[in-house]
This record gives sequence, structure tokens and C-alpha cells, in this order.
Amino acid sequence: MGQTATEESSTQEILEKLPSPREVVSKGGVDAENMAGVVHPEVALWEGEQYYRTVFEQCALGIALTELSGKYLQVNQSFCNFFGYETTDLLQKTFQELTHADDIAESQVQIKRMLAGEIPTFTLEKRFICKSNQVKWANVTVSLVRDAANHPRHLITVIEDISDRKRAEAELRRQAQQQKALNRVIQAIRNSLDLPTIFSTVVAETGAFLKVDQVYLVQYLPDQKRWSPVAEYLPHPAAPHLKPGLFQPEGSLVDRLKKLEVVQINNVSSIRNECQDCLNTPLAGAYLIAPLSVGAGLWGSLILVNPQPTLDWQDYQIELVQTVADQLAIAIQQSLLYEQVQAKNQELRNIALLDGLTQIPNRRCFDDTLLQEWNRLLREGRPLSLILCDIDYFKRYNDTYGHPKGDKCLQQIAQSLMNASRRPADLVARYGGEEFGVILPNTNGEGAMQVAEFIRNTVKQLCIPNPKSDVGEYVTVSLGIASTTPNNSSSPQGLLQVADLALYQAKQNGRDQIYIHH
Ligand code: GH3
Ligand code: MG
Ligand code: MG
Repeated sequence: MGQTATEESSTQEILEKLPSPREVVSKGGVDAENMAGVVHPEVALWEGEQYYRTVFEQCALGIALTELSGKYLQVNQSFCNFFGYETTDLLQKTFQELTHADDIAESQVQIKRMLAGEIPTFTLEKRFICKSNQVKWANVTVSLVRDAANHPRHLITVIEDISDRKRAEAELRRQAQQQKALNRVIQAIRNSLDLPTIFSTVVAETGAFLKVDQVYLVQYLPDQKRWSPVAEYLPHPAAPHLKPGLFQPEGSLVDRLKKLEVVQINNVSSIRNECQDCLNTPLAGAYLIAPLSVGAGLWGSLILVNPQPTLDWQDYQIELVQTVADQLAIAIQQSLLYEQVQAKNQELRNIALLDGLTQIPNRRCFDDTLLQEWNRLLREGRPLSLILCDIDYFKRYNDTYGHPKGDKCLQQIAQSLMNASRRPADLVARYGGEEFGVILPNTNGEGAMQVAEFIRNTVKQLCIPNPKSDVGEYVTVSLGIASTTPNNSSSPQGLLQVADLALYQAKQNGRDQIYIHH
């Protein structure tokens, strides 16, 4: 009820302020001497009526006397105030006509029971649409008035405004639901490191909870001068919708978001100014745009669209959207960190498996790969070949040109060996000082021979002078091959030993040549 002086004082207080009705004294029983303090019965009756009329009028509860049909006979001020009508608006109308209570059927059932004498009175909590469409709640008590012959005559309806309590209850319910929705969002973020999954879950949860028409998550890409759509929630896909990819990359909207401001736009003409050409159709709506800040910069924004253009966003909606945007920003930050850690780990793994000087796989990588391929080819029953390749008279090269030039020579030869391996599964590695190893899965001795020959020629064609070599004027290599189909009675170490022996034999036979162990 509105705040009037009458309603602020309780009914009890009003009663105390009123003179109480005086006792009615019968003429016969009073002698003339004592008549001074006694009131005439008509006066007493009049005063009594005045008293009850004042109580009725000033009572903080709304009271109405109606016919059994619901037609108003008398209403007090509080009753009129509750519904927002004047007394004259109500009189001669019926309760049903003017008050638009929800669920009138329930009251009618109760009234029937009362008329049948089953109950003397009943009380219901009811929601009313009052004048000017205001929604109010009241505790309604209806009682039956019977005449002297005990026939039902009138209904007395007493209403107590409980709108504040109902609003508080609704607010509590809403807060609990909001907390649940937020928990689901946070859960979705915690359960996944996969950003696309997080994005789609979060926009859907937010849209469904806030009952908005459209939700978009867009990423801000200042380098590419554009906004890129990342996820969207469109419960009515056929309805016209926003193309957030067309947001202006610069301008007042971006400036406000960069200042971490939640932007509200409540009509189309202002959104046209904020983001030129952002609409594929003239799309009326109220927009709520929350920034997502990751690290020091603006990562993107969460955009809510409500089809009613004049709608004001509620504080709780703004608060929820901001919280969701903050949670998303945390998820993005976490995911970026995770990616960085993954990349760093990969880098470390690469470093651990690469030779520092030649930047080709190292001995450790060679050993790991040999074991892996051995086991694979053992299962598949397919051949495996190894080539060990050693530079001839390399000590003399170092002696001639110095160690740094020797390093350069090693790098050049490493590169030409890498180029010599053709299949993706082949592996060239630096096996030792000036020695290289080549693993050739699915390759028999004959195939390995071809690869070895190619390597020998390629190195020779580099024409790196080695004047002190006994073989020729340029750097040459000797190669030893071992080839087998892995079986349970042999081992990778055994194959390596055979290749080593073959290399030794190639050296013995005069260098710049290949030896294959049969
Ligand atoms: P052979 O034809 O019998 O293989 O003669 P060689 O001189 O190549 O063999 P030896 O084993 O006597 O010498 C190998 C040389 O390779 C000695 C060493 O200084 C050189 N060497 C090994 N690793 C490196 C390296 O990383 N950089 C340089 N510059 N030289 C290296
Ligand atoms: Mg050697
Ligand atoms: Mg050598």
C-alpha cells in the first residue's frame, strides 16, 4: 500500500485514539439526579455508528462489503488505495470486474463451500493486476455475513498488502537461481580446457538463464581490424540477428570496453552510431555488452540482445553478465598459459632430442627411434636397415683448417644426409663425433645400399677440400650397412654391432666406400 499517515499507525493505535462508544442507558432504570452523565439512546447509537465507521475508514487493512455476486456495496480507503481506484470507480462494479485476480476459480470454490456452511471464512494469497497494470500481492480473507434468519447476505473481504514480502521472496528465488546458473558456468569452465566447448556452454547457459533473445561472444582482433564471432546462442534461429563480426574495430564502443565499462544500448539509432553497419537488418533491441579483459588488453566481449528496444537492463543482469565475462576471461587466460606450457614442453623435448651443433636428431633420439622401429617391425615382420657413416681422415681436416672449420664441415654433411633420407619414417642422426647413423624402416639391404650410395655421392659432390686425405682431394665418407627382419633372437644392439663391423670393413677396404654385412 502507499505511504499515507493512516497506514503508518496500526489499527490498534487508531482505536485507542478514538472515544469509545458510550454505554446505552435505558430510560426506566435511571433516576433524574443521575441523568447528567447519561446519553440518550439515539445519541449513543449515532456515536456508535460513527465509531465503527471511523474504524472501517481508517483501518490499514483494505475492507470491502459486497453482495454475494461480488458487487461492491462499501469499500474503505485502504481497499481503494491497494487497487488504485477511487471509491466511485468500485461501487456498483463487481470484485471480478475490476481486480483481475489470478486463479479466480479457487476463490469461487471456497465461496461455494462457505455458502454451503462448510467453512465460515477462508484466506488466500492472491496476485492482482491493479489499475495501471501494477502487480500486487495480497492476503485475502473472505467472510460470510448472514441475516437474522441465518441466510447468507453479504461477503466481507479483508485484504492485507503482502507485495513487499512477495517481492523479497521472488528476489531470493532469483538470487538462488542466479547462483545456480553461475555455478553451472563455473563448472563448465573448470571441467574443460577446451575453449570452444567452454564458450558454447557459457553463452547457452547465460542466454537461457537471462531469457534473452541472442547472446554472442566475439573476439577483438585489433591487428586485423575486426571483431570475430567465437560463439553464439540463438534460440530463435529464424529471427533476424546481429552480425557481430561487423562491429567497428575502432570508436567509442571499443574505447568504453577498453575502460572495462559494461555498455548498455537501448535503441537502434544509438547502436547504429556505436557500431556502424553492424546490423544485417535494422534490428531493434536492447544491447548489453560486457568487456572480456585478458592480461592487460581487451580480448573481446559478451553481447546480449533483448528484442524489446526500450527495455532497461536490470542491475542483476548487468552483474551476472559481468561475472560471466570475468570467468570467461579467467578461462581464456588459463588456456593461453596451458598452451604456452605445452609449447615450452615441446620445445624442451625437441632440444633434448636435437644435436646442438648440426641441429639434426642426436644419439638419444637415434637410440629411442631404433628401439621403437625395431619393436614395430618385429610385430609387422618387416625389414629394418641401418647405415653408419663416418667421415674419412677428419682428424687431418681439423688439423688443416682448425676445429671451427671442422664444425662447419660437419654441419654441411649433416644437411646433405638429411636431404638424402626420402621417407617420412627414415631417421638421420649424429651418432658420435664425425659419425652419423641412418635408420631405414621397411627397407632391405638392397634399398639401404641405394641410400648409402646416394649419401656417398652427395658428400663427394659437396667438394669440400681435404688435401691431406689419402683417398682424394675432397672430403669423403665410408659407410657400413646392417640389414635384418627383426626377430626375438636378435636385438637392436646386435644390428648396431653388425653395422659398426661393416663400417670398420669399409675403412679397411680403403675408405670412400660402402660395406654391407651379409
Ligand atoms: P678415419 O678415416 O679412420 O675415420 O679417420 P678420422 O681422422 O676421421 O678418425 P679419427 O677417429 O682418428 O678422428 C676423428 C676426428 O673427428 C677427431 C676429432 O677431432 C674429429 N671430431 C669429432 N667430433 C668433432 C666435432 O664436433 N667437431 C670437429 N671439428 N671435429 C670433430
Ligand atoms: Mg670416427
Ligand atoms: Mg673418421
